[in-house]
Amino acid sequence: MKTKILVVGAGIGGMTVAYRLLQKGYQVTVVEKDKDLGGLLGGFSMYGTNLEKSYHHVFKTDKYIIALIEELGLGKKLKWYESKTGLYYEGKMYPFAGAIDLLRFKPLGFMDKVRLGLMKIYLEKENNWQKFEGVLAYKWLEKWCGQRAYQIVWEPLLKGKFADRYKDISMAWMWARINTRGNSSESGKERLGYMQGGFDQITQELAKRIKKMGGVIKSNSEVKINLIKNKYDLIITSQNLKNVDYLGAITVVFSSKQKLSPYYWHNINDTNSPFLAFIEHTNLVGTKNYRGRHIYYMGTYLPQNHHYFIDSDKKIYDDFFEYLGKIFPDFERKQVEKKWIFKFKNAQHIVTRNYKKQITRNQKKEKIININFANIYPEDRGINFAVREALKTVQRFS
Ligand SMILES: Cc1cc2nc3c(=O)[nH]c(=O)nc-3n(C[C@H](O)[C@H](O)[C@H](O)COP(=O)(O)OP(=O)(O)OC[C@H]3O[C@@H](n4cnc5c(N)ncnc54)[C@H](O)[C@@H]3O)c2cc1C
Repeated sequence: MKTKILVVGAGIGGMTVAYRLLQKGYQVTVVEKDKDLGGLLGGFSMYGTNLEKSYHHVFKTDKYIIALIEELGLGKKLKWYESKTGLYYEGKMYPFAGAIDLLRFKPLGFMDKVRLGLMKIYLEKENNWQKFEGVLAYKWLEKWCGQRAYQIVWEPLLKGKFADRYKDISMAWMWARINTRGNSSESGKERLGYMQGGFDQITQELAKRIKKMGGVIKSNSEVKINLIKNKYDLIITSQNLKNVDYLGAITVVFSSKQKLSPYYWHNINDTNSPFLAFIEHTNLVGTKNYRGRHIYYMGTYLPQNHHYFIDSDKKIYDDFFEYLGKIFPDFERKQVEKKWIFKFKNAQHIVTRNYKKQITRNQKKEKIININFANIYPEDRGINFAVREALKTVQRFS
């Protein structure tokens, strides 16, 4: 009899595991509590084109997801674009992509810039990340970049990403962010990958192949593992880790005839802003697939009990659009054509000092294997690493 495996969660991790196990001849059922497949990578229709509910791109170094895209026959859809980044600080947007932008960045003095630049080079070259495991990111950054550079550049980013837990974050997490990202540039210019027609095509193609190989996918189906564990020989689950804290995330996505910025990615370095990142998606990929409209995201990470998770949509739109008007005084809300709010309860795990101790160490004999994204370490969770972990999990089976 074939080994019966249940995969809990139809995010990119669970779907990849299911696909690979079917290829190895196992009997696989995937259950997903949401109505849509894809988890954090899930999409929705924007002018007939699939668009991510939360902004997504990949880096040149993301070799596992790139290989999967190729294998699924979707390689031609993955296009590479030069990315332009801005940083908003005290009422002004500055270009903030490379060394020249840093040198021209007025809010910092010359020595602050030198220290910032040296720190970045050092973290890109340093491979011994273990030495940062017990170090707090905020303290390390403040010490090596100086107080002013820390307060202008790093603190708003740490706060935006980790909300009230920003002082708990390990420097190993920050090392991974800077090291991976820096090594994804070509001659100092960052190139980002996006799939024309949306990354949801990966999930849909995996779903098609899973079904074709005899796998079963059930959405709208939340499982309580204790109640069903005897029905399966093995369970591979994306459920949250019990001893890790998570943050939620909110994105406001809208389309408009108005073009607001020359940049793709905008760090909003103002802790009064309701969002941490502003993304003009069509500045990366063009407007062709969206009937010539400009597509925008405003996104932020929040504690799971933040009022935005229960507030009315009107309140969230009002807060976000009001602040957007401060950044771009020409912004006209009446030109917003379509708008959505997406809320994710489990969007980011909090990577505290010596985080390794909190991660699941799945044993070969175990009947339940956890592949939740919080197991990814020291890298920040991302679709590339979800695929890498899925492959690692499957390699354990003959
Ligand atoms: C705002 C934002 C922007 C991002 N941008 C990028 C980016 O640009 N590039 C990048 O690489 N990554 C990005 N990411 C991260 C990326 O989306 C995730 O790392 C990846 O999608 C995680 O996939 P996963 O399968 O591990 O987990 P998830 O996508 O979280 O999937 C887990 C699934 O399991 C389901 N589930 C959990 N418990 C149960 C249960 N008991 N029963 C049934 N189903 C259950 C959940 O509903 C979910 O669908 C971003 C994330 C966010 C929030």
